[in-house]
Amino acid sequence: MLGQMMQRDLSIVEILKFAAENHSDSEVVSLRTEGNIHRYNYRDCLVRVCKLANALLDLGVKKGDRVATLAWNGYRHLELYYAISGVGAICHTINPRLSAEQMLYIIEHAGDSVLFVDTTFVPIIEQLAPKLPKNLVVVVMAETASMSNFSNRYLCYETLISKSSQNIIWPDLPENSAAGLCYTSGTTGNPKGALYSHRSTVLHALTLSLNMGRYLGHGMKVLPVVPLFHVNAWGLPYGAPLTGTSLVFPGSNLDGASLYKLIDNERVNSAWGVPTVWLGLLEEIRKQHRAPSQFQNVVIGGSAAPKSMIEEFEELGITVCHAWGMTEMSPIGTQGFLPQSMNKLLSPGEQISKKCYQGRRVFGVDLKIIDEKGNSLPHDGKASGELHVRGNAIISGYYNNEQATEEAFDEEGWFGTGDIASITSDGFLNIQDRAKDLIKSGGEWISSIDIENIVMGHPKVANCAVIAVSHPKWEERPLLVVVSNGKNRVTKKEIDDLLLEHIAQWQLPDAIEFLDALPLTATGKVSKLTLREKFANYKLA
Ligand code: AMP
Repeated sequence: MLGQMMQRDLSIVEILKFAAENHSDSEVVSLRTEGNIHRYNYRDCLVRVCKLANALLDLGVKKGDRVATLAWNGYRHLELYYAISGVGAICHTINPRLSAEQMLYIIEHAGDSVLFVDTTFVPIIEQLAPKLPKNLVVVVMAETASMSNFSNRYLCYETLISKSSQNIIWPDLPENSAAGLCYTSGTTGNPKGALYSHRSTVLHALTLSLNMGRYLGHGMKVLPVVPLFHVNAWGLPYGAPLTGTSLVFPGSNLDGASLYKLIDNERVNSAWGVPTVWLGLLEEIRKQHRAPSQFQNVVIGGSAAPKSMIEEFEELGITVCHAWGMTEMSPIGTQGFLPQSMNKLLSPGEQISKKCYQGRRVFGVDLKIIDEKGNSLPHDGKASGELHVRGNAIISGYYNNEQATEEAFDEEGWFGTGDIASITSDGFLNIQDRAKDLIKSGGEWISSIDIENIVMGHPKVANCAVIAVSHPKWEERPLLVVVSNGKNRVTKKEIDDLLLEHIAQWQLPDAIEFLDALPLTATGKVSKLTLREKFANYKLA
């Protein structure tokens, strides 16, 4: 027997309409590429979104068309998220840190018909111009007055908005209609597209609001350092308006000093991003001898949060939530709040250790770990295997890529993440490595994340990474690459002494190399691929 309830299609623009009605005094604050702060509330945002949607229709954008963005975190980018999906088109966010070749590949692969570009990225478009599709319409996200700085082939964002009416009847869209497209950073092979739907996006926003609810709510301010061009800024463009949280966008200024200033001035309560940006913020906090005022918590994800980073934030009174997810998962998979009952039972040290795990699954995401034959392994904190996931906001295939789709799913239809993990009996996920980053030494596995986590705690180390280098006897051995904190380099003995408190002798790195900075991927994570290439012919003594 079926239930007798209405079937209303879930629709992304309904989130903003709700925010405009119920949270009209919550703000969207943006540090603009023009250098000044722009602020308005969700009601103003909706008005401009309606105008932008009409402008898109006037440009000939139709349902299912792919409309691309190449932009920083700011109010115009947010408007595009809602206007594009609202008219039934697909918002394809392009990562500006991709190589020119990868960018051309994804513009072509996505079949973009319009491209919205921030002023700072116009030079990239000029460079790509000869190879871009002939009919691609380019719109510069700028004021009418500043268009004299750009080629007259380009349209102007503010001119389009000013000419358009705010009266719109949003089309009814089946909830499974595609709404967003984001390509993985493609560290191996070409980037692959995750095609989000209205349904998956709204469900993810609800899940986010529920599970990250402590950081979100009316009267709270959240700063997504995680870019709008990388997995929907972890869902904040939807979760923040839904919960009435004010959004504070940093634009292109992601260094520690700029983030500190913005968080402090705007009294931001929560900021979300990858560990590399928090290294910069912590350095600035040390210089200023105080945390930014009102700054209560930080969500760390994208790669493993080092223990020393968690400790430093917590000592400052800034709560850490260590989260895990993927582009293919919209992205949130797990989050690391410790419930009050657990906090009471655990000592401060035990709480920090618990936070080094990637947290527990959010509602709507199922996790399993499997061995090489595909058998499910117990969640006992010991067994480790490849992590597979399923859920309503997880891809069912890659956009227009049959081969990648075929390789990504197991026989039961779960998505294989490529991460090696264990899960404790109380549900905490422990990511040990990307399968391809694990080091195989004499048939035994060594986790690069474990070593990095410990080494990051050494005062002479500002950043580090561990990669496998080939070895004639052991097949692979770990090489530690260190960025020094100050002039004094850490010695091998100092590193070994520290590591031996936690890991076995045979797992110690064989050598240390020093670099001025670690190479980063397009999403701000340490690029182990680049390091492996750099040290491909490394000879261990
Ligand atoms: P992306 O799709 O670029 O967001 O990358 C997803 C991958 O980043 C995951 O499969 C993990 O390998 C890694 N990752 C994300 N969050 C974490 C975390 N908290 N700890 C360790 N690895 C992470």
